[in-house]
Amino acid sequence: MTKIAVYPGSFDPVTYGHVHIIQRAAKIFDKVIMAVTDDNYKNTIFSLEERLNLIKACCTQKNKNIEIDVFNGLLVDYMEKTGAVAIIRGLRAVSDFEYEMQMASINKHLNRRVETVFLMSDAEYSFISSTMIKNVARLGGDISHFVPEEVAIALKEKYKEKYINKVKSNRY
Ligand code: ADP
Repeated sequence: MTKIAVYPGSFDPVTYGHVHIIQRAAKIFDKVIMAVTDDNYKNTIFSLEERLNLIKACCTQKNKNIEIDVFNGLLVDYMEKTGAVAIIRGLRAVSDFEYEMQMASINKHLNRRVETVFLMSDAEYSFISSTMIKNVARLGGDISHFVPEEVAIALKEKYKEKYINKVKSNRY
């Protein structure tokens, strides 16, 4: 039986932290689906299409058993639909633990068939989050060590675009 896992997240944008986790998961499972959330509550800076394109460039093109998909609603329903048996989550620091434990427990309650598998972040990337990367990029800092080249370029463009729009709206 093909063992499928799902790696859910907003990936706004994808970082080397995510890339490491998905590549390691792909060695354990037959197939791993990066499931990108399409919820508006997170207020992402990249559109869904932009996030998908960045993931395609950095993760799915290079690995045959990594797929990409979009999901809305309850993760356990998506797991049923795809026949996946495990949720992959990355753990960076103790601060991730409480939230992740709550999520894993509620998902177990909603569907007893589903297991959550935690992978420890690589030490080199344990302090990276998409939020942190966005803050550094917004202020013009060098993020090339933390994100694939395609993402670094996209972030630069995004903040340039935002800056131009801001200047325009102040002027008129
Ligand atoms: P969410 O929208 O659920 O907060 P993210 O897109 O930020 O998700 O991240 C998805 C998953 O990747 C989460 O399990 C998160 O803990 C994990 N993750 C994020 N950054 C890293 C990192 N640097 N190292 C390991 N795991 C990470």
